[in-house]
Amino acid sequence: MPKIQMKTPLVELDGDEMTRVLWPVIKEKLIQPFIDLKTEYYDLGIKKRDETNDRITIDAANAIKKYGVGVKNATITPNQERVKEYGLKNQWKSPNGTIRAMLDGTVFRKPILVNNIKPSVKSWEKPIVMGRHAYGDVYKNAEIKTRTGGKAEIVFTDDKGNETRETIMELSGPGIIQGIHNTDESISSFAKACFEYSLEEKIDCWFATKDTISKRYDQTFKIIFEKIFENEYKNKFEKAGLSFFYTLIDDVVARMMKTKGGMLWACKNYDGDVMSDMVASAFGSLAMMSSVLVSPNGYYEYEAAHGTVQRHYYKHLKGEKTSTNSVALIFAWTGALRKRGELDGLPELAAFSDKLEKTIIKTIEDGYMTGDLAAICAPPAKKILDSIQFIDTLAQRLEKGNSM
Ligand code: NAP
Ligand code: MG
Repeated sequence: MPKIQMKTPLVELDGDEMTRVLWPVIKEKLIQPFIDLKTEYYDLGIKKRDETNDRITIDAANAIKKYGVGVKNATITPNQERVKEYGLKNQWKSPNGTIRAMLDGTVFRKPILVNNIKPSVKSWEKPIVMGRHAYGDVYKNAEIKTRTGGKAEIVFTDDKGNETRETIMELSGPGIIQGIHNTDESISSFAKACFEYSLEEKIDCWFATKDTISKRYDQTFKIIFEKIFENEYKNKFEKAGLSFFYTLIDDVVARMMKTKGGMLWACKNYDGDVMSDMVASAFGSLAMMSSVLVSPNGYYEYEAAHGTVQRHYYKHLKGEKTSTNSVALIFAWTGALRKRGELDGLPELAAFSDKLEKTIIKTIEDGYMTGDLAAICAPPAKKILDSIQFIDTLAQRLEKGNSM
């Protein structure tokens, strides 16, 4: 079989630890035998970020702006321990944070369902897709820890130099203060991205904030969503038989536990961070969740929703077998290849991605899986595979066209 040819390279962002170990194995065994893979490679491993003073992350984000589609491996966001562990010059920012701030947009995370793993929430039958606003709020904050009491104020100076002030609190002793922001433009594109996603996937859209408490900040999200829906999407939703539902964040959490699933849950940045891990874990595993950043300018970045799986990496370094599940990493590749195919008019890329994804689901449903899934699957797994054996099994099945 001749290999599928690509027109435009994917922007490839490599990462750290266990996911860095698996990344080339996935490429070599599952993609390169079938596709003449073109990528522009950026090493976002922590050493390279340190060496380049994190310039590499900015270059990679700019490359996504140039080519349109990126695929990203999981990366370390350094804390104090990591600075020591890797002898870093600096506690570099989260690469995801940097990239999201440059591309703006919304991260859509969708659980990958298999019929032998039942969600922890009994009523859930269909995937709950998380739509996480990827700009601003606490992820782009300014914070002060005060050593004494004093007056905490919030000040805005407009472009003519006029100041608006508001007192936050007269502190009577040491305390903490935080300033956050968002923009009407980013919130609007968040709303549009969610409504477009709902229409494309034919699922309802749910959105929640805490507008009863945050009467300007959160209420702005609510008003922008409702206005854009009324003006641009109401008719399209009605025609498609879909609905947009707004409520309070605590109400939505309670209600979500009683639904069958099958909706898009649009979340503000922090809510999305927290809730998407809960939803992923309730559907089975962090490794069974696909994730894509959709920017309002038409850029796409596909990634896994989990981290670098540090604990498994240390086992790997000791020469031990690991049980790291590569499904989300592979779905990052299939998502990126499918989108590249769509943009470049290469349906064979999308067909390949469909085939690889189906092979993964069938393999797990046939009872071959890594330990994380074996622990929760029913009927029990036929064979528990280590990280590499699982990829090898997929490769064999892909070669044979799904049967084994
Ligand atoms: P993690 O890598 O997501 O792993 C946490 C735990 O979840 C693992 O120890 C493992 O549980 C389980 N797990 C996650 N992915 C798995 C997979 N593919 N297969 C099997 N089990 C999996 O989070 P972390 O260990 O807290 O963070 C490690 C590093 O990742 C940190 O430096 C953090 O900054 C970074 N991080 C990066 C991203 C990103 O780039 N998108 C996201 C989150 C975190 P068991 O140990 O019980 O097997
Ligand atoms: Mg998180």
